[in-house]
Amino acid sequence: MIIFQSLTKAEFAELLIPLSTVRRSETDPEVIEVKKRKQAKLRAQQIFHWVYQRYITEWDQMSDIAKEVRAWLKENVQIFRLTESYGQQSEDGTFKFLWKLNDQKTIESVIIPAALREKIGEEVIDALDDGKRFSGVETEKAGLNKDLDGDSWARLTACISSQVGCAMACKFCLTGVQGLDRSLETHEVVCQVLELRMRAPITNIVFMGMGEPLHNVKNIIKACQIMLDEDGMNFSKRKVTVSTSGLVPAIEELYEHTDVSLAISLNSSTNEQRSQIMPVNKKWPIETLLAACRKVPLGGHRRITFEYVLLKDFNDSPEDAHRVAKMLQGIPSKVNLIPFNEHSGADFKRPTDDAVLKFQKILINKGYTATVRISRGRDILAACGQLRSLFGTARGTEKHRDFKPQDAAVSETQA
Ligand code: SAH
Ligand code: SF4
Repeated sequence: MIIFQSLTKAEFAELLIPLSTVRRSETDPEVIEVKKRKQAKLRAQQIFHWVYQRYITEWDQMSDIAKEVRAWLKENVQIFRLTESYGQQSEDGTFKFLWKLNDQKTIESVIIPAALREKIGEEVIDALDDGKRFSGVETEKAGLNKDLDGDSWARLTACISSQVGCAMACKFCLTGVQGLDRSLETHEVVCQVLELRMRAPITNIVFMGMGEPLHNVKNIIKACQIMLDEDGMNFSKRKVTVSTSGLVPAIEELYEHTDVSLAISLNSSTNEQRSQIMPVNKKWPIETLLAACRKVPLGGHRRITFEYVLLKDFNDSPEDAHRVAKMLQGIPSKVNLIPFNEHSGADFKRPTDDAVLKFQKILINKGYTATVRISRGRDILAACGQLRSLFGTARGTEKHRDFKPQDAAVSETQA
């Protein structure tokens, strides 16, 4: 069986060509070929709408697709569903989902709400409380998809995984400590977003869950193409962000094929420091990484996000902040400071709030946009890996019931 969500629209259309029909009176082979292709393309568009915009996962429900085509699809193409083995709202206002894959391995996705009640409207909140499913049209109506480009608008960010585990071995990261199990297939990446969208009106996607997306770049490129496809998930390129520890050749490859936004896990102000906590730095040091960043075709007003995990007495000094400000000069950038989330897999400590704010202030004074990821309790990103280790293989069937984005606790401060 071919899996539907593993194919881009162009690939799916190619598959449908033999099913296309033309009038018997048509005899010119070239004309026949063109007409068949056109019909296949149209059908691929229709089916993409059914699955990615209307969340229909049964071929028989696709009423505008010819019966014979549906019959063939039923025999040959599977619309994949992820099995939810655990879904829960955590204390910090985020929603965690644990999915069981066909080989029994588990991965996580998290929904991070950053929403103001009045921005959403009672209608939507009530519907969400009922666990109602949303269509793209409804979220549009609710104003959730409006691009207000401010810091106070409703946002539901899906934080998704790209691999089971991670091979990059960053010293501060729980997933890194666990090592790599395997990379995710395209459909396993796409379906995390699809499943979440069936449950809540996701507005943004970040590849900041488990794994190094660019260590699985081919599948991530395809997944991004499906996410950005206007007949597919129809996300704006500004709303899909790939986060990487810095696999330089893969950054170049990514931008040859798709145009998502980029986040770089910088995490240090010198090569010596960075190599100590991120082995990838030995191969592609900071200057090589930043040179690649300068070449990213950003266009418009897009900027690269530089993530910086603040580790107490390691990379959190004012001198570090000054060095970061200096090294990012000339790159359209914003800095996202993440106070380290402590866990049993690493000895690092979370810096004091005072040190965090001081660090932020230095960057702001140098003219940067610098945000601090605040979280009540456990930080969501590290909690990704933690949830998996807590439950090992999947267990429990509890589903989330009350999705209340107004409970959002993970937010960003921006100056
Ligand atoms: N592999 C990719 C994406 C997943 S990690 C990458 O490294 O960019 C997403 C972010 O979580 C990275 O910026 C990483 O530095 C950060 N992170 C990992 N462990 C953390 C922890 N314990 N506390 C705070 N941030 C952490
Ligand atoms: Fe992998 Fe990212 Fe964790 Fe590093 S920080 S080990 S690249 S998931």
